[in-house]
Amino acid sequence: MSSLNHVLSDFVQYLENERDAGRGMVEVPVEVLNELGVMPKKATVPVSKEAVKIASLHRQVNHEHLPGTTGLEEIKASIAACKKCSLHKSRTNVVPGQGSVSPEIMFVGEAPGADEDLQGLAFVGRAGQLLTKMIEAMGYKREEVFIGNILKCRPPDNRPPMPDEMEVCLPFLKAQIAVIKPKVIIALGSTAVKGLLNLTTGITKLRGKWLSFEGIDLMPTYHPAYLLRNPPAKKEVWDDLQEVLRHLGRTPPPVKKR
Ligand code: SF4
Repeated sequence: MSSLNHVLSDFVQYLENERDAGRGMVEVPVEVLNELGVMPKKATVPVSKEAVKIASLHRQVNHEHLPGTTGLEEIKASIAACKKCSLHKSRTNVVPGQGSVSPEIMFVGEAPGADEDLQGLAFVGRAGQLLTKMIEAMGYKREEVFIGNILKCRPPDNRPPMPDEMEVCLPFLKAQIAVIKPKVIIALGSTAVKGLLNLTTGITKLRGKWLSFEGIDLMPTYHPAYLLRNPPAKKEVWDDLQEVLRHLGRTPPPVKKR
């Protein structure tokens, strides 16, 4: 199966999941699915408009040789043009997320902050620097993982994302996940867990316990911004990260002596 077919197959699965989750729905014309190269039996599947838009981008590129990078770039272009919620009015830059196109681990946070909005990169402020330390403590380089957020634009004054903003933005993250196929998702904080799994249980109760997002193992843990305010919680996060490493068959590198 070609890379594109993998992508489309994942999108079809994703669209069906959207339907099963009861999200905003439209009927997709048979012609659209045929143009996408999807089997006709999928023609009656109702799907979200945003997901179809993203999926449609993939047919605009070379279908025979579609590397993961190209898929991510197309999603990035769609994010850059997005005006689906009011956050587009106040953003300086969109923050699609960045990193490896085929990572073992994908980190998902809440939303861009001021530094991220200015640079167009996820997790580059103080919390991002702490995340970098966490990644390196696990034995990875930052560029070996993928780092993204539930929202791709900064909420004013760093307020929490609104439910409607998360709903309309989430298809971008889902599309990225479908392309890069991480082995593990690490959800940073309660907003990430709520956005991905629609769970409202507090992160304190959820952290350290394996969950699943569309077949991908998901580990919830605290957000690095919380660790900046509450350093003792770093130990619990390190426990969670070590569990991820065990799950992946890895062992953490020895801790450097200061
Ligand atoms: S936050 Fe998401 S949905 Fe809202 S404008 Fe930005 S990219 Fe679009």
